[in-house]
Amino acid sequence: MITTDICIIGAGPVGLFAVFEAGLLKMRCHLVDALPQVGGQLSEIYPYKPIYDIPGAPEIKAQELVDNLKKQIAPFSPTFSLGERVESIERQEDKSFIVTTSDDTKIHCKVITIAGGLGCFEPRKPAIEQLEAFEGKGVTYMVKDPELFRDKDIVLAGGGDSALDWTIFLSNVAKSVTLVHRSDTFRGAPDSAEKVFHLAETGKINLVLKSNIVKINGNGKLNEVLIEASDKTVTARPTDYLIPLFGLSPKLGPIADWGLQIDKSQISVNTVDYSTNIEGIYAIGDINTYPGKLKLILCGFHESALMAHSAFKHVYPNQRLSFKYTTVNGVNAF
Ligand SMILES: Cc1cc2nc3c(=O)[nH]c(=O)nc-3n(C[C@H](O)[C@H](O)[C@H](O)COP(=O)(O)OP(=O)(O)OC[C@H]3O[C@@H](n4cnc5c(N)ncnc54)[C@H](O)[C@@H]3O)c2cc1C
Repeated sequence: MITTDICIIGAGPVGLFAVFEAGLLKMRCHLVDALPQVGGQLSEIYPYKPIYDIPGAPEIKAQELVDNLKKQIAPFSPTFSLGERVESIERQEDKSFIVTTSDDTKIHCKVITIAGGLGCFEPRKPAIEQLEAFEGKGVTYMVKDPELFRDKDIVLAGGGDSALDWTIFLSNVAKSVTLVHRSDTFRGAPDSAEKVFHLAETGKINLVLKSNIVKINGNGKLNEVLIEASDKTVTARPTDYLIPLFGLSPKLGPIADWGLQIDKSQISVNTVDYSTNIEGIYAIGDINTYPGKLKLILCGFHESALMAHSAFKHVYPNQRLSFKYTTVNGVNAF
């Protein structure tokens, strides 16, 4: 069991900044995110896109902002459960909570802050016969730990940035890497596509273009994929893993079942402190709604500060909070 003051569900920019605001008030945080990395939409959807409306940063790339946030919160030693979706929350008699994830990690906390953005990103699944039957038995939609693929035969499918980036990365890890793509051009970054073509030319990977995986087979565990070319010929390729990378789409997921007041897939909050209808649970960032809400990173940052000041009373019920600037108090690491 992990014990913390605040369990933050969602490690996007707003969840990350909440660690800073909580840390200033001496509250420890554990963050859970369904994605294998922090950064939410910024790292998953638009890491290289510049952002122009972060106060004090006239232009900053999305991933750079996430990296800066990681640096900013480091003094407060947050802990993380990544690649795990929060499935349930359970109130205890003393008003604390136990949060349980998809990997059965349990987090005991005094406050829950939901910074779940648009919800969990769920993989778009291609139409491949038997695909779901082999999930967790050789089929995986995310690369949580590249070491899983060391010295294995792997097949990736897709033509976007994730498919290209993981093909390049895993070509140095796996025994063999095959990338199957339905077209002969890629949607992903041109320099990544160039690297993939070069890896294929030099024999480091197998590139199978204008083709689709139509079926997979195995005996309790995946052992081959069947690839159909544009002339309809089908070839079998032995493999240990199949990684279809066709993008992710957000779904509110289990958050909808926790008794929170939901309005059009968002959590209604009180704008005094971004508390929800359940005492001790807050919602900040894109996941919440209130009159005038703007889904902007800077609005989520503001909400983090007010949330932390209100959460203090749940974590330290017998203490009075006196407001001080960081210029006076500094940033005191745990
Ligand atoms: C293309 C694009 C461009 C944008 N440009 C700008 C811009 O220029 N300026 C700006 O201010 N905003 C911009 N935005 C909006 C901005 O990205 C969002 O406002 C911001 O990401 C919200 O941050 P967040 O932390 O609330 O949520 P998110 O970034 O969505 O992060 C939420 C995280 O919660 C996780 N999660 C959800 N449910 C669960 C669960 N049950 N268990 C575990 N994890 C869970 C998700 O996996 C996700 O990682 C842009 C958005 C897009 C798509």
